[in-house]
Parts: sequence; structure tokens; C-alpha cells
Amino acid sequence: MSGNLLPIVQSVLRLRAQLSTWRERGATIALVPTMGALHDGHISLIRLAKVQADRVVASVFVNPRQFGVGEDFDAYPRTELADAQRLTEAGCDLMYAPTAAEMYPDGFSTTVSVRGVSEGLCGAERPGHFDGVATVVSKLLIQAAPDVAIFGEKDYQQLAVIRRLTRDLDLSAKIIGAPIARAPDGLALSSRNAYLDANERARAPRLHQVLAETALGLTAGGSVRPVEQAARAALAASGFDQVDYLEVRNADTLQPPPDGPITRTVRVLAAVRLGRTRLIDNVAAEPPRG
Ligand code: AMP
Repeated sequence: MSGNLLPIVQSVLRLRAQLSTWRERGATIALVPTMGALHDGHISLIRLAKVQADRVVASVFVNPRQFGVGEDFDAYPRTELADAQRLTEAGCDLMYAPTAAEMYPDGFSTTVSVRGVSEGLCGAERPGHFDGVATVVSKLLIQAAPDVAIFGEKDYQQLAVIRRLTRDLDLSAKIIGAPIARAPDGLALSSRNAYLDANERARAPRLHQVLAETALGLTAGGSVRPVEQAARAALAASGFDQVDYLEVRNADTLQPPPDGPITRTVRVLAAVRLGRTRLIDNVAAEPPRG
């Protein structure tokens, strides 16, 4: 692309200085937190943010605290210049790319831990992950104090954790969930898709197919437990190296619904492994009509 890049700030001080200037002029502010390696899913969040507020800030920070021991923190793709270009093209107003030392200065000792919604699902597979997410998102929401903050439904449990902490800590940002952006074959876009080799990439869309079939089964009046069992079997037979979980959960509380046909909106959530890549995805299922 040609032309100038959007402004990039690396410190809380500079972030706040820029945001105050905008606020003094009466502008509302949207924050879109990311870990960079931006793809069309992230850009869909920026577009939504532009409809929701006058000015849009995207944060790009690969948060070490949300990666477990043996996870992919070192390998995680870092593409800051390309990210800045994509944000500029999308009409984002500011990129906030703090260093780890800025976010976690020496002596940093505070953890935000959300009970309940952070337990089970990805919380069971990734101990400490949601503490890391909750801590960094709390910091970002306090640093930027945005009017709205946009998060993708792709990370559905994360969105629930963030909604909870925002209420519990009286943070003023309105939290908005954005629909999942998918490749034409249904695979949810993810920075981690870059890890997939050609063979794995060809198998990956099966995850979304099984989730979509499961949602149809529930909406057709299937009982929760048998439908879940069938979906787990379908995933296991789909060539994934491991099925971490497949669960039907209440869309708001993330609690398991009672067995029998669903009577309110649920979410079908799953995580699988394909080689060294962990894929997560989820779909909504509406109760049968009438
Ligand atoms: P990440 O950079 O993976 O931490 O993601 C940053 C934000 O983008 C999170 O709120 C994600 O839920 C969201 N996101 C990532 N992938 C997608 C996608 N395919 N569709 C919608 N939102 C997404």
C-alpha cells in the first residue's frame, strides 16, 4: 500500500494523551484488543468498531500471561508492519502496541481471576489462560477507558469472561460481541491457521461442519446428551489428532443445559488438535419452534 501509516503509540502515557485530545473534541472511542497477525476476522471487528464510535483504537500485544508452559508464545506470528498497514487500510485511527515491560513492569503482582465462566471448556485445557486474558483485558480497558470494546464470538468463552469482569469491576465500556468471520469453506479465521500445512488445512473445515450439523440436530428437537455424543463421535472420526472437548452450553451462562430438547439458545463449542495446532470454534443453536 502507499501513503502514511496510522499513528502507533507504545506507552500508556501516549495512549492516554491521544485519547484525551479526541475526547475533548467530543469523540467517542472504541477499543479492539488483538494479538496482531491480523486477518479478515480482526478487520471485521475494526469495521464494527467504526460503526459504534467516532475513533477506533486497536491494541496489538502478544500477551505472555495467557500462554501456558509449552504453548506457542515464541512461535506466535508477529507481523507488526503488515498489521499497521491493514489497520490503516481499514480506517483504524490508532494502533497501541505496548511492550511487555510497559504492560508488566518489574514488581507487577496483580492477577484478575474470573470464576465460573472461565472454568471448563478451554479453561480446563489451558490452566491460567483466562487469568492472563482477564488481567490484560482489564488493564487495556482501564488504560483506554473506551466507550465500547469489541471482541469476537470466535473466542466465545473469552467473551463471556470479559463480559463478567466488566460488570464485576464496574468498568464503563460497553462490550460488543462480533460474529465469527470464516473462510469460504467454513473454517473460522485465526492467526493460528498459519501453522496448518496443506494436508491439515484441507481437514480443518470439518470442525465447523460437525458444529453446524450438531446445531441443526438440536434445532430439529434432538436431545442434548445424545446429540453431544454423536457430535463427539463425528469429530473423533474426522481425522483430528485429538478432540479436547465438544459441549453444548447455555449461550449466556455457559452452563450445561438439562438433557432433552433445548428450550433456549445454546452454543455448541469445540476444540480439536490438528498436528501442533489447536483449533477452536462454536456455533449458535436455536430451540425448535412452536
Ligand atoms: P486474537 O488476536 O486472536 O487475540 O483475537 C483478537 C480478537 O479478534 C478477539 O476478540 C477474537 O475473538 C477476535 N477474532 C479472532 N478471530 C476472529 C474471527 N475469525 N472472527 C471474529 N473475530 C475474531
